[in-house]
Amino acid sequence: MVGRLVLPGQYIGTEEEFIAGSGTYEDEGRVYSANIGNVEVSSDFKVRVKGRKEDIIIQPGDEIIGVVSEINEPLVVVAGEYLIRAGKAYEIKTRALVHASRITGHYLDQCSKVVKARDVIRGKVVSTRGKIDLTMEPPDEGVIFAYCSKCRKPLQRINSGLYCTYCQRNEVRKVSRKYGEISEGVKKK
Ligand SMILES: [Zn+2]
Repeated sequence: MVGRLVLPGQYIGTEEEFIAGSGTYEDEGRVYSANIGNVEVSSDFKVRVKGRKEDIIIQPGDEIIGVVSEINEPLVVVAGEYLIRAGKAYEIKTRALVHASRITGHYLDQCSKVVKARDVIRGKVVSTRGKIDLTMEPPDEGVIFAYCSKCRKPLQRINSGLYCTYCQRNEVRKVSRKYGEISEGVKKK
C-alpha cells in the first residue's frame, strides 16, 4: 500500500494499522484517502496521501487524471492533477478539455449526459496545441470515480453502469474499465 496511488474514498487500511494523517479520513475504524496521491506512512504509523510535483511537459499519448470542474457544452473542463506516462504518475496542475465528440465514440448532443462536475476522469492526450485536448473514448479512459448526484456518496460500479447503494438508483456515465483504481503498477518516480 505504501507508495500506491489512490483515489478519494479508496480504502487504505484499518485504524489498528494506521493513524489518519493529512489527505486521509477515518470512518468506522477504517482509514480512507481524501485525495488523489501516493500513500506515505511515517515511522509513527501516520498515513498521508500526497502528490508529487515534477516539471514535465505534457505530450500526446500521455494520460491525465483530473476532476471535472465544469461542463461548458460541448466541452468538459478538467482540472488535471496527475499525468500517467509509462506506468509512472506525476503530479501536475493543468486545465484540459474533452469535446463531446471524444467521449463515447458516438454523436453526443450533451456531455452532461455521461459526465458530471466533480467526477474524476482519466483521459488520453490527443493534442497539446494551444490547449490540452483529451479523449475519453478508449476503454481505459472515462470516469474513474463519481459521487451520487443525490446523496454525494461514492457510486459503485455494477457491470458497465454506476449504482448508489444508499439511494438504490443508477447513474449514467461513460465509465472507464479502471473505475475505482488509477492503475496497477503505478509507481512513484
Ligand atoms: Zn445516493
